[in-house]
Amino acid sequence: MIIRTLLIANRGEIACRIARTARRLGIRTIAVYSEADADSLHVESCDEAWPIGAASARDSYLRGDVILDVAKRAGADAIHPGYGFLSENADFARACADAGIIFVGPPASAIEAMGSKSAAKQLMEKAKVPLVPGYHGDKQEPAFLERQANRIGYPVLIKASAGGGGKGMKVVEQPVDFAAQLASAKREASASFGDDKVLIEKYLVRPRHVEIQIFADGHGNCLHLFERDCSVQRRHQKVIEEAPAPGMAEARRREMGDAAVAAARAISYVGAGTVEFIVDAAGDFFFMEMNTRLQVEHPVTEAITGLDLVEWQLRVASGEPLPLAQDQLRINGHAFEARLYAEDPARDFVPQTGRLAALRFPTDGVRIDTGVREGDSVSVHYDPMIAKLIVHGADRTEALDRLSRALEATRVAGLATNIGFLAALARHPAFAAGDVHTGFIAEHEADLLPPAQPAGDIHLALAALAFMAARTREAREEAVRSGDPFSPWHRVDGWRLNDDAHHRLAFRDGEAERVVTLHFRRDGFVLDLPGGSMPVQLLAEEDGLLTVLLDGVRREATVIRDGLDYWVLPGAGQPDRRLSLIDPLLEAEAMAEGAGARFTAPMPGKIVQVLIEAGAKVTKGAALMVMEAMKMEHTIAAPADGTVAELHYGTGDLVEEGAELLRFEPAKG
Ligand code: ADP
Ligand code: ADP
Ligand code: MG
Repeated sequence: MIIRTLLIANRGEIACRIARTARRLGIRTIAVYSEADADSLHVESCDEAWPIGAASARDSYLRGDVILDVAKRAGADAIHPGYGFLSENADFARACADAGIIFVGPPASAIEAMGSKSAAKQLMEKAKVPLVPGYHGDKQEPAFLERQANRIGYPVLIKASAGGGGKGMKVVEQPVDFAAQLASAKREASASFGDDKVLIEKYLVRPRHVEIQIFADGHGNCLHLFERDCSVQRRHQKVIEEAPAPGMAEARRREMGDAAVAAARAISYVGAGTVEFIVDAAGDFFFMEMNTRLQVEHPVTEAITGLDLVEWQLRVASGEPLPLAQDQLRINGHAFEARLYAEDPARDFVPQTGRLAALRFPTDGVRIDTGVREGDSVSVHYDPMIAKLIVHGADRTEALDRLSRALEATRVAGLATNIGFLAALARHPAFAAGDVHTGFIAEHEADLLPPAQPAGDIHLALAALAFMAARTREAREEAVRSGDPFSPWHRVDGWRLNDDAHHRLAFRDGEAERVVTLHFRRDGFVLDLPGGSMPVQLLAEEDGLLTVLLDGVRREATVIRDGLDYWVLPGAGQPDRRLSLIDPLLEAEAMAEGAGARFTAPMPGKIVQVLIEAGAKVTKGAALMVMEAMKMEHTIAAPADGTVAELHYGTGDLVEEGAELLRFEPAKG
């Protein structure tokens, strides 16, 4: 292979994943990193790592000039862009070529051809690839677009031409909403992509998202590596992907594969690419877009083909022909991928930031692609994906069973994640039946997002035992330090020397407060819990893994202490829970600070618009600020009539979750 040194212009799991293959092939790897990523896993995964700028992607991972300069200085002969960032930036691909460095991706012209969804559709129309009915021309006057929407028929979908990641996309159910949705889509599109051009499409109901992985080399060969079904989505973003697609007939697979290969050939494609189709209830398929890069969910294709797509990319970029021909490819079994995100399903999936106090995966029967380790942080600057879990089985049932088990054996603490939601999805009977469509999550929301239950007795008992385990350890350490290991003052089996020594612990459980009283017994404790009394015993504790006897039943569970937070992860299909120990001292301080109406950022993000001035009197419902988080706009509105007493942030400021945005004084009376 002519590539000897590869610079990986990305971060996180994909940078680690690319490094793994490169190293296996004996290629020297160069990482680049922002100030926020100096100690990250992707830096450690490479032979060398070069700093490229500040935390914000705009100042680091999107700086093509800086990255190219590093590539030259580090002696890289190729750059792999991963996905996101510069992967679909034609100017960057061209700049690499001009500098004599191989861009591991398609030629700049192919990126350009597919870069605009509208232009791509015009091309595909010519290549006779079926399209969803819609308008994808250049005219952008609102009145004209509205007429097009009426012609197409509601519901319609407005899409940013330059879009990706589900951003700048708005479903419009009825004509009265069109103008407002168009304006919003255009704002999101220009904020995310610097281009507010949109297209209008018929919005299909209960469709499937089925995409074809294609590969082409520089010798005129082009083939497909079958399909992936990515129908299970939330806000048009993929959650669980699988290959092959459930219920796919061989003839339809061939037709879709041929259409995808035709699409790639139409733009003289080279390298790995994905042609995304939307499939209606009748099974008819329509071109949606082509992603001219490695896809997040490529591992499911690797699992069913036994191939390494990054290796293929590197071979093709080196000028080698494709390693296999179409008739040498076979589907073996079934594979799933689940995307583990730092987000809170209980609060409309708002992205979470913070330290991963625990991150533990099962080791057998699952491939874990991740860019973080236990103790690392998920920051406000980048995508909140923590890991991808990939499983393979002889058939769909076996693979799905493995996925459920892998999700249930995963332990994450320190911030809210979608792990419980993913596990509920994997266990859902309709999912098991293969009845997937893009509205699946919305349709089964009640099952997938059950209303919050109070913490169970088991959670409280485990938190209390973890508290005692920590106390015992601290007391033992203190005794050793004091030089008198037998001093009665270091005993933790009771504060008082009377018969019923007990200790009262209070935990915050969401909004509620729960109390556990521990009664000390010779062989453990009796706990007074909301559901009654329970004899318990702590048999062992190591690194958060507790072995306990609860009511005589021996079991294991994980409880991770993170400051005052107790992340109780009971396993065995029981939900995870965060309980916060109420420290009476801290509570008193907080009460003393007094209450004013506080406006805190519901998630990390950026202030894109401030609509009022400090001191402004506003009426209930008035828009005060527009915050952008995960490239979507969120409007902060007045909860009542009142005055905006202080503004703490201005347009363009970045805010952390929980930051106070402004101080609001409700009108009296
Ligand atoms: P895919 O189509 O590959 O499954 P998605 O559409 O889910 O990817 O991802 C949305 C887009 O968000 C990706 O195309 C990529 O551009 C961007 N993206 C996702 N994750 C990251 C990340 N960790 N870093 C940078 N960009 C990302
Ligand atoms: P992105 O670049 O954000 O990935 P896509 O055009 O691929 O944008 O669309 C993302 C998702 O939106 C699709 O996977 C699908 O679920 C949904 N979608 C797109 N077009 C349509 C449509 N015409 N009707 C119904 N759903 C659609
Ligand atoms: Mg897409």
